[in-house]
Amino acid sequence: MDRFWETKSLAEMNQKEWESLCDGCALCCLVKLEDDSGCVHYTSLVCDRLDLDTCRCTCYAKRHRLVKDCVSLSPEEVLSFDWLPRSCAYRTLAEGRSLESWHPLISGTPESVHEALISVKNKAIPVGSVHEEEHENYVIEWVEIQ
Ligand code: SF4
Ligand code: SF4
Repeated sequence: MDRFWETKSLAEMNQKEWESLCDGCALCCLVKLEDDSGCVHYTSLVCDRLDLDTCRCTCYAKRHRLVKDCVSLSPEEVLSFDWLPRSCAYRTLAEGRSLESWHPLISGTPESVHEALISVKNKAIPVGSVHEEEHENYVIEWVEIQ
């Protein structure tokens, strides 16, 4: 495969290339809480629209209409989203780092992101199953954002 991510900037990628950059980790689909100082804390609660087996969105084409907090990434905004996981492929390339060996574009299989324990697979529960007042009890430390 043409290693387009090594020769093109994020802004130069076509839609297919841009979409293929997503490693399928679904870390960005985890519920995040912001404290009084503006710090973002990830929880193990995940959007109800995520398929927990595949870690793929079940309403991808309509996601922004159906889920108000679902964020759209653009090449211009990637670096301003400082809550993005450090492992996120968009952030990785925007910061000038190389894709990791577990990234599906490198490994050739979408399973590698799960096998490397990067994704939310077997680590998250649907947010709809937990009362909002209890969300802060689900804060986690294993998503690296610094
Ligand atoms: S964190 Fe980045 S790579 Fe992972 S699912 Fe979200 S957009 Fe894709
Ligand atoms: S709507 Fe889909 S892409 Fe958006 S947060 Fe939910 S599962 Fe993730």
